[in-house]
Amino acid sequence: MSHSSRVVDATDTLHMSRIDKMRTLQPAAPGNDLDKSTEQVDVIVVGAGLSGLYAATKLDRQGLSVRVLEARERIGGRVHSATLANGIVVDLGAQWISDHHPLMLKLAEEHQIGFHPTFAEGQAISVEAGGPKFVGADHMPLNTAEALDVRRIMARVIKTAEEIEKSDAEPLDRQSVETLINSMASHKRAGDFVNWTLSENLCMETAHVSGFELGKQIASMGGTKRAIAEADQHIVTNGASQFVDALTAELGDRISTGQAVRDIDQTGAKVIVRTDSASYIGSAVILAIPPQLFSEIRFAPDLPRDRSNILKQFTTGRVIKTFALYQEPWWRREGFSGFMSSWTSSHFPIVVDNGPEGASYGLLASLSTGKAADRLSEVDPAGRGTALHKYVTFATGVAAPDPLETISVDWSSEHWSKGGYASRRPIGAWMSHPALFSPISRLFFAGTETADRWRSYMEGALQAGERAASEVMASTAATHN
Ligand SMILES: Cc1cc2nc3c(=O)[nH]c(=O)nc-3n(C[C@H](O)[C@H](O)[C@H](O)COP(=O)(O)OP(=O)(O)OC[C@H]3O[C@@H](n4cnc5c(N)ncnc54)[C@H](O)[C@@H]3O)c2cc1C
Repeated sequence: MSHSSRVVDATDTLHMSRIDKMRTLQPAAPGNDLDKSTEQVDVIVVGAGLSGLYAATKLDRQGLSVRVLEARERIGGRVHSATLANGIVVDLGAQWISDHHPLMLKLAEEHQIGFHPTFAEGQAISVEAGGPKFVGADHMPLNTAEALDVRRIMARVIKTAEEIEKSDAEPLDRQSVETLINSMASHKRAGDFVNWTLSENLCMETAHVSGFELGKQIASMGGTKRAIAEADQHIVTNGASQFVDALTAELGDRISTGQAVRDIDQTGAKVIVRTDSASYIGSAVILAIPPQLFSEIRFAPDLPRDRSNILKQFTTGRVIKTFALYQEPWWRREGFSGFMSSWTSSHFPIVVDNGPEGASYGLLASLSTGKAADRLSEVDPAGRGTALHKYVTFATGVAAPDPLETISVDWSSEHWSKGGYASRRPIGAWMSHPALFSPISRLFFAGTETADRWRSYMEGALQAGERAASEVMASTAATHN
């Protein structure tokens, strides 16, 4: 193989634009000793992902002073764009937005961030153990009876989500999605197919997710078949980091990178937040990090024991994203859309064409989630791009030239994410802890996992950031009255 392959980790600064250089500016670092130059602000935001950044801009616009503390040297969290050798920007994390994402669309409009439709012209390919099958636009490699069963099960799942607030939630929350789907399926292959599809979307096996959690997730996405189908409608042209850049430009040096928060102390009149090199004092803190990372922070007083027990049991999604960049989109010429799916034993269950219509180059992205991510993680990281190329040439039957460049990132090995797309409550936790993320004194929660709308998406990250900022504003107003 002559192409170059890259493996990316949390410290990678591939996308070093002007804004990136600003992103890595250090804080006016106060010492760890409170008598020294400890910084005092109204609100400390922990985590400079989209959620924390959005919360901070909302508070800043209301006249509150903010300090955003970010553990990594880069800003953006699960949004991370990288520039390939030929100048093409790819998203190693989030890339899709939809017409059903009002906050993302507003931000895109405000900052003139463009997007293109996900390419879908031509034949989709389904790969099964016996070799590839070419299927139609609905990508269902099943016989008629099984396909009908899948549609019936999905209609029931959506109806359950529509009625989630009226439903008898207890039994739904006590059973896994896998059990629920299997009980609905008349054909085993139909049940297996739905379980596979849902696990791809949830980024984890359906055995780990409760039926109620699934219903709440679908309801958070608007609950309609259309909204769900259109979640992957548009790809952000030139990278989703443009959203991060826009918010970063607004906040400027109020963001400090390389500041992992170790300690949040609410025992005094103010909240004290400590990192390895500095202390910050504020009237409120917004924690905008994934729940699987809460256990790395010492809280004084401790978080309520029942809540922290549930938080420790969150299941974290598992995803490896791999790109192969080609001289040209050769599959389009052969009449393929570039969409390849495999619900059997592949390392690459979903492959999509990421390029815009009319692109001169070819760009394939694969999302290996759940068990497929476990399998792919056993492949030497530098060899994943080669494995993807072998897979797509096998699936299409085209002797395509080698890719110019490949790049791969395993989000589970990113210390400050520990997985993606999102993490989820354990089975039964919705019923036992409906208000898991309600404020604890002056500690407020943001992050996509806490969102009411589009949880686990960038839209959810913005919505949760906006909600947390409103909670802080309301509590500040209440304190002053
Ligand atoms: C591979 C992949 C593909 C995805 N695809 C899509 C998609 O196409 N469309 C979509 O809408 N969504 C997608 N998502 C989900 C989307 O990326 C997330 O929902 C969103 O970015 C989460 O933002 P957040 O701010 O809530 O969390 P994060 O982005 O995780 O931000 C949290 C930040 O907190 C920092 N942090 C953690 N602990 C500490 C600490 N102790 N001190 C200081 N800082 C800390 C982290 O470094 C991070 O920067 C995808 C995710 C992945 C991983």
